[in-house]
Amino acid sequence: MDLRNATVNRRRLLTLLGASSATAVAGCLGGDGDGEEPTTTASDAVPDQYRTATGLNGEQRDPDALSAKSDVNYQSEPKAGQTCSRCAFYVPDKNGDGVGACTIVEGTVEPNGYCVSYLPHEADDDSDARSPVDVPEDAECAVCGMTVANFPEWNAQAVHEDDTRAFFCTAGCAVTYDAVTEQFADTDADVEGLWVRDFDSRELVHGTSAHYALETDSDRVDDPMKLNPAPFAAREDAVAYVEEVEHLSEEDIVEWSAFDRDVAEQYRGQLLE
Ligand code: SF4
Repeated sequence: MDLRNATVNRRRLLTLLGASSATAVAGCLGGDGDGEEPTTTASDAVPDQYRTATGLNGEQRDPDALSAKSDVNYQSEPKAGQTCSRCAFYVPDKNGDGVGACTIVEGTVEPNGYCVSYLPHEADDDSDARSPVDVPEDAECAVCGMTVANFPEWNAQAVHEDDTRAFFCTAGCAVTYDAVTEQFADTDADVEGLWVRDFDSRELVHGTSAHYALETDSDRVDDPMKLNPAPFAAREDAVAYVEEVEHLSEEDIVEWSAFDRDVAEQYRGQLLE
């Protein structure tokens, strides 16, 4: 499964990274022109394909028997590791816009969202392979080789379809790994799940649905590699972040698909073959 399946404003990314400090290595983005920003924010309406869709628990959505988001305290962030994507009532994304729906709550919901009606999806045979795990004490970053457990507020991890695990010191190494998997992975199996630390909460969140502020000032953020994108589960947190930074704007918030090999060159170029 290719995890990079959304569109991004690549020209803006090129402009930003090209203007970064001397520690951000030179390079440029390839590919064709601009794409439209994907819709990743939950709304009160659902596309037709969700109206009577089936949730993870196999039950069908009844559009006439739904709770309002305000009644169930829906929020766009996880709570204690509980997310819509792990909830029995969740209807996974059907149209590639990064959000799904719920069989008991109105509107679209984000995979990293949460509400008080959360019910853990009963484990099936491979569910463990789709969840993050405790970082082994001796795990080395699959990209840079640093000891991952030394960076509990920054580390990230991935799992492949054959259950092979990979651990990373930071989000920058994680996105590089997924962009250039053939160099760093110990398996040919596709990456099936990837998690990064939310920049504010430091909790692990789904990397493929996170919103990334393309931080390029190595002196501003005291992270282990001095050059990392800042992930946020909620887009509004990413917006709040860039609003506080003079050299960034909302156009510098990108989705997972931005991190192809060309961008990996910008963040971890010295480690690429
Ligand atoms: S956590 Fe709430 S909104 Fe999310 S899928 Fe479960 S019931 Fe629906």
